[in-house]
Amino acid sequence: MDRNIIQKILIGFFFLTCTFIGFKAFNNSSELTETSSKPELNTNVSSSRMTYGRFLEYLEMGWVKQVDLYDNSRNAIVQASSPELGNRPQSIRVEIPVGASQLIQKLKEYNIDFDAHPAPKKSIFLTIASNLLLPLIFIGSLIFFFQNSDNFSGNSGSSPMNLGKSPARFDQQPDTGISFDDIAGIDEAKAEFEEIVSFLKEPERYTLVGAKIPKGVLLVGPPGTGKTLLAKAIANEAKVPFYNVAGSEFVEMFIGVGAARIRDLFKKASENTPCIVFIDEIDAVGRERGAGIGGGNDEREQTLNQLLTEMDGFKENKGVIVVGATNRVDILDAALLRPGRFDRQITVGLPDRLGRIGILKVHARNKPFDENVSLVQLANRTPGFSGADLANLLNESAILATRYKKTTITKNEVNEAADRIIGGIAGSTMEDTKNKKLIAYHEVGHAIVGSVLENHDEVEKITLIPRGGAKGLTWFTPEEDQTLVSRSQLLARIITTLAGRVTEQVVFGDPEVTTGASNDLQQVTNIARQMVTRYGMSNIGPIALEDENNEQMFVGGGGEYNEAVADRIDTEVCKIVNHCEQIATEIVLDNRVIIDLVVEKLLDAETINGFEFRELVSQYTILPQKS
Ligand code: ADP
Ligand code: ZN
Repeated sequence: MDRNIIQKILIGFFFLTCTFIGFKAFNNSSELTETSSKPELNTNVSSSRMTYGRFLEYLEMGWVKQVDLYDNSRNAIVQASSPELGNRPQSIRVEIPVGASQLIQKLKEYNIDFDAHPAPKKSIFLTIASNLLLPLIFIGSLIFFFQNSDNFSGNSGSSPMNLGKSPARFDQQPDTGISFDDIAGIDEAKAEFEEIVSFLKEPERYTLVGAKIPKGVLLVGPPGTGKTLLAKAIANEAKVPFYNVAGSEFVEMFIGVGAARIRDLFKKASENTPCIVFIDEIDAVGRERGAGIGGGNDEREQTLNQLLTEMDGFKENKGVIVVGATNRVDILDAALLRPGRFDRQITVGLPDRLGRIGILKVHARNKPFDENVSLVQLANRTPGFSGADLANLLNESAILATRYKKTTITKNEVNEAADRIIGGIAGSTMEDTKNKKLIAYHEVGHAIVGSVLENHDEVEKITLIPRGGAKGLTWFTPEEDQTLVSRSQLLARIITTLAGRVTEQVVFGDPEVTTGASNDLQQVTNIARQMVTRYGMSNIGPIALEDENNEQMFVGGGGEYNEAVADRIDTEVCKIVNHCEQIATEIVLDNRVIIDLVVEKLLDAETINGFEFRELVSQYTILPQKS
């Protein structure tokens, strides 16, 4: 069974969350009409970046000096200085999520100097200039095309105006400072690379016996799993130069520029052998040729051709090893994967439980953790986390410890950081209203039904403290990495997820149910649909109607399903959901007394942890033993 697919659903709901977003207000943050002479936001600037969540934290900590908003408040350049940044002021880019309209309010609240920059009005000069630009581009590309047409005869003609020369982009790092010890959880990939390191160190040993070493190695896996880290580690362990580029840097508007850059890169690399050339997001260049429409394509094709030519150029590997990274090997051009090019593929997956423990240990090395912090427990709590997520988690807990002026990082900070990353930043508690009571019933409904079902994970915590977009949350502890999920487990998830809305209905009656369950319903529909279209768990039978990207792959190939098939899918999905709703209703009715009790406790305490919850419930009913 496809591990990835299951992993994907698992990540989707290892915690059951209930969003009470209500209706989204359509207020695009108040129009600001100020103008200023600040420069335009240049989306290519290589300034450092920070997440929105992090930015809010910086605000809270008083580390933000000034904020410039661009693109209708979708992007911001933030001037900040913090201990993390060595107390030197820096400009940091922040992408602001849609719906973060309270931001301006917040900025005012914290008394931050801010400014909004409207998109420039097109001036008459610009209009004239842009009219001229098109013919210019055309003429430019023509010249370029003729100059480059001799690429394949081995003559590497230099590009006009030196457009392709941008030496600054290939940052060559002789010492990346990363060693194999800094990488955990991906041992197979590491082992593959150890051989390459030994080749780089003593090539004679290999050439003597006629062994050929791959020129290209493709690292395939989701972001944040340590692909860049691996490439850096080989360079460092072998003590060779490391050239780091992103595939997107080769995709330019002007035809031929990308190709010229590739040529330039390989020229430099071959002057400095042995060395490692790391191309991140190689799919930006290496996408299947002829797969799209439009002019940008010709440019990409030329760039790709150039890359292929360069890789073929060195018949035997003289010491340039190209490491590519991508998450989508399926869209790569087949030519890239031929022997002599990227002929070795190494999968770098999300870490399993032991892997997560290893990674947490690596990142805990330089941090003073209290004895009560258990990295093993933390690893249990974080299936689906990538290495980068785990590193971030420990870093966040260190920041929290600083904020609370502690000298060691305790369990509290670690738990809070995990809650934040999984659920978003906590908001302030709600006023006691009818809504709060309804939310309490909704959450307790999830918790009770999930506990009664043998095949559902255990309750970790129920809380009425809002987090992210959700007004209340019920968290379940995933027992272990589940790479195979059974039909009854999927059904238990659907039943438990429906239980929030069902409890609202049972307790308050149909007219009072709220929009708060919309997220739950989406999840339910998703699972049920996948059971029908991908896992063959319905009356339609063991047929895969869709692949992991929800693309149709019905017998007969291509095109749309016929209507009859689409209708049958819908019918089967409804059947599953209705069946589950019925079971959820029965459980809620059977346990009404306990639900009332837990709600009372929850309204009082705001948060109940799994242990307290089970103790309370077990006074009234016998819960199944969970494995
Ligand atoms: P990728 O290139 O796969 O997107 P990176 O190699 O850039 O991911 O990883 C980003 C960061 O996440 C690293 O700098 C490191 O701190 C952390 N990280 C990711 N994977 C691992 C791992 N396997 N072991 C230790 N740290 C990791
Ligand atoms: Zn819910």
